[in-house]
Amino acid sequence: MTAVLEIQGLTKTYRARGGPRRALDGFEMYVEAGQVHGFLGPNGSGKTTTLRTLLGLIRPDSGDLRILGRPVPAELPQVIAHVGAIVESPQFFPHFSARDTLSLLADAGNLPQSRVDWALELVGLRDRAKERVKTYSLGMKQRLAVASALLKQPKLLILDEPANGLDPGGIREMRDMMATLSAGGMTVVLSSHILGEVQLICDSVTIISLGRRVAAGPVAEVLQAHSSGQVRVALE
Ligand code: ATP
Repeated sequence: MTAVLEIQGLTKTYRARGGPRRALDGFEMYVEAGQVHGFLGPNGSGKTTTLRTLLGLIRPDSGDLRILGRPVPAELPQVIAHVGAIVESPQFFPHFSARDTLSLLADAGNLPQSRVDWALELVGLRDRAKERVKTYSLGMKQRLAVASALLKQPKLLILDEPANGLDPGGIREMRDMMATLSAGGMTVVLSSHILGEVQLICDSVTIISLGRRVAAGPVAEVLQAHSSGQVRVALE
């Protein structure tokens, strides 16, 4: 199996007002092609720092990061066209429809308009595409955000807490959407601090605590190890 994402020895210390704060401490993670991979850890464990580092938004102190086999940030320009990401809540124009929103984004990104309907279909918004975004539920807005990241037809999709705030129905829709994407060959990495979300949505998981990997593998195995007390990290 090819690793779409490889992280080794990732270290990052923030210089905060109250003194240095170590966010990542030799963290490692491997994600194989076609997986929906959960990146699970309590609040403040280092998930966002990791994802932002992968996208070149944060400079690490040390570490070896590879996306699609290429080192980042050195070769980020060569891989970024293949990476879709949502690492903070995107702001949409509330008076635009989902289709107009995506159409604008496709134009701005020099991408073919044919991808707009394709992305709407994949996230299950095609029937509601003409409605204004301001009438959308949180789950629909999250799916529109995913659709915006899909316009690139990425090989790797990185989502920071995409299920945050969703009700059980919204989480099931997220699961179905991720299953469709991975069936189409896409690799997804999504972060969460809620064990039940990852259990429902993901195939494999890496658990992070205090900036270190504490467990990784198929979801069922890792969560079994966690519930039997072999993996010691407090999760919701
Ligand atoms: P959450 O689920 O709350 O977003 P997280 O797992 O994504 O948490 P990070 O946001 O990466 O964790 O934070 C890791 C650690 O680094 C935390 O202790 C956090 O307080 C600290 N941290 C994050 N960003 C900064 C910053 N800009 N300056 C100083 N410390 C920071």
